[in-house]
Amino acid sequence: MTEQLKKLNKDILPIAQWLPHDRVPWVIAGPCSAESAEQVLATARGLAKSPHVKAFRAGIWKPRTRPNSFEGIGEAGLDWLSRVKAETGLLTATEVANKTHVERCLEHGVDILWIGARTTVSPFAVQEIADALRGADIPVLVKNPINAELGLWVGAIERLYDAGIRKLGAIHRGFSTYVEMQFRNDPKWQIPIELKRLLPDLPLICDPSHISGSRQFIEPLSQMALDLGIQGLIIESHIDPDRALSDAKQQVTPEDLCRMLERLRVRDTTITDRDIKRQIARLRAEISQVDAKIIQDLAERMKWVEEIGRLKQEHSIPVLQINRWENLLEDHIAKAQKTGLDTDFIKALFELIHAQAVKRQL
Ligand code: PEP
Ligand code: MN
Repeated sequence: MTEQLKKLNKDILPIAQWLPHDRVPWVIAGPCSAESAEQVLATARGLAKSPHVKAFRAGIWKPRTRPNSFEGIGEAGLDWLSRVKAETGLLTATEVANKTHVERCLEHGVDILWIGARTTVSPFAVQEIADALRGADIPVLVKNPINAELGLWVGAIERLYDAGIRKLGAIHRGFSTYVEMQFRNDPKWQIPIELKRLLPDLPLICDPSHISGSRQFIEPLSQMALDLGIQGLIIESHIDPDRALSDAKQQVTPEDLCRMLERLRVRDTTITDRDIKRQIARLRAEISQVDAKIIQDLAERMKWVEEIGRLKQEHSIPVLQINRWENLLEDHIAKAQKTGLDTDFIKALFELIHAQAVKRQL
């Protein structure tokens, strides 16, 4: 970790100081967009019944991918958030994408701000927000950028830190992908895990709504997040989901959400049983040995690759022979299937190995 990140990690204020909670998961919930005072208040009343829900979210200005869709109710919705807070006691949260949004939220006493995925990708926009926040004592959550790039995510957090913000958090909402998949956004869990490694004290929140894109996957994704040790969730909830003006398919009613939160299981993070501790240590030792062997084998594979590379060069044979690569991949996938290994995993692994082998021969 760089000195700068170490300092940032040390200075981050514990989540309990700005989002007090007594249960795991602790949850920020509410509609994708604020649409009317009735919709906002009815949703908040339903959500406030869950002991897990500590803050109410609602988009006021909506960054829509295509024009001519609902772009948010605008400033009028901020008064509805104040009413939610007065009536239910829930903290309020909304998305800001520019200086004016920040100013309006600070004037209206919004409790928590977040930076959306389409804004995190733009250092100019993030800097403008950070400058507008200078001197303000408000928590800011940073959603991952829509593209799978950890640097932009960390960079946005650093810009806020440099502007004096110490109540910081990150939201994992998945990464956009061209590949047809089960979810709207690819979770790529390794990226939030890497963020956690870089900034272990930064609260990490999972947004299963925007990862899944459909309500049926919200529960399994929330459970996966918990199983990975992520304790905070931000979930979209609407009093009449099918009629929501944005993200209708992924919203759930407050009643369904409250019930779902009760079904989630939290794994105990402290291992006290000595026998289990011993068993885990033994299994970890086995795994480390296999890992060491994999590294050895990869090094050996690269030695042969370099030798074949020299031979190809001497005889002017092209580095890449697409038939050989296709056969090799098919062969490995067939072998992997027999052992019960996931074929997508083996494909991705050998694509990486092959790319490195080609690089070594150039
Ligand atoms: C949202 O939270 O409603 C939103 C627009 O999310 P994202 O920035 O993750 O797409
Ligand atoms: Mn949404």
